[in-house]
Amino acid sequence: MNYYFHLPFCRSKCGYCAFYSEPSPDQESITCCLDRFEEELSAFVPRERCETVYLGGGTPTLLSEAELERLFTLIDRRLHPDASTEISIEANPETLDKGKVQLLRGFATRLSLGIQSFHPEFRRTLGRDSSQKAVEQAIELVAAAEFPHWNLDLIYAIPGQSAAAFQDDLERAVQLPIDHLSCYSLTPEEGARLSDELIPDDDEAARIWQETGEFLAGEGFRRYEISNYARTGGECRHNCNVWRGGLLRGFGPAAASFDGTKRFIQAEPLTAWLAGTPPETDEIPPAARRNEIFAINLRTADGWTPELWAMTPDADPWEMRLAAARRAASETSPEFFDISRNRVILTGRGLLFWNTIAEAII
Ligand code: SF4
Repeated sequence: MNYYFHLPFCRSKCGYCAFYSEPSPDQESITCCLDRFEEELSAFVPRERCETVYLGGGTPTLLSEAELERLFTLIDRRLHPDASTEISIEANPETLDKGKVQLLRGFATRLSLGIQSFHPEFRRTLGRDSSQKAVEQAIELVAAAEFPHWNLDLIYAIPGQSAAAFQDDLERAVQLPIDHLSCYSLTPEEGARLSDELIPDDDEAARIWQETGEFLAGEGFRRYEISNYARTGGECRHNCNVWRGGLLRGFGPAAASFDGTKRFIQAEPLTAWLAGTPPETDEIPPAARRNEIFAINLRTADGWTPELWAMTPDADPWEMRLAAARRAASETSPEFFDISRNRVILTGRGLLFWNTIAEAII
């Protein structure tokens, strides 16, 4: 089982972000959220091994050391992670200090640091609230803590950011002892504070995506998903499991779950979730769910093999998957797919057009 905790609190709202989070939360909101986690987990009986735990948001590290310790203790007691469980936490530079990083190191196996850019001017363009000093200090603290796995988040195609400036970000990133990099093309979500101002150049973004893959491959980082690169063994297991249709139980407002058949989204905002508003259920026919899972994991470089497909909930015969892939290739472009008896993957160009392909499959 894969667990996700949504900590819906941020110091301020970044200009491109439309994820659900509460900027500058009061203390009472944080305490009520933790109380509710405790209540839900006390009633929860895990039936499968705890394979991964992911604490995301929002900014989980906005919580104090004592609050994080309370949450970690709760997860330990109720979900029983073992030595091989992957435990990831998202962190933002301005919320870290030495004590907090040491506490995180005692619990998490993987830390994901949201830098977005080493250049302060581009973080400013993004409306991202981290000073250069905070970024430098956070990098130093996390590097010294030697997490088993360390990811940096970067964003490219920011207005005013040249390809050379992003290349500089990549070069600085690979000097660090990281084993994972997430490089996202700027995509201001509908409803984001600066969505009208942050318009990326799509052609430039595609060119940078191509060059990023080539550069990082030379540095030992494989593109294993459209926007994610890892050294061998550094892949995020939680995300890989979720893309393959693995079981997911989400806690917190706006958190998603998947029970093998139905998807659920917990209520938001925080007040609605705290008030016990039931989650929204997404129930679709089994054939549609199979197509959805099949399309989602084509985001990954390894795509599907018959063995992997057989492990998905309610899998149909591999022949049907080959037929679905061939159909999507003829409706989009044969050059997007690499289909053989024992594997279906997207080509580099196919990954760039994953949205179109997913639509054709689903
Ligand atoms: S990008 Fe992250 S830190 Fe910024 S508002 Fe969204 S969730 Fe919060």
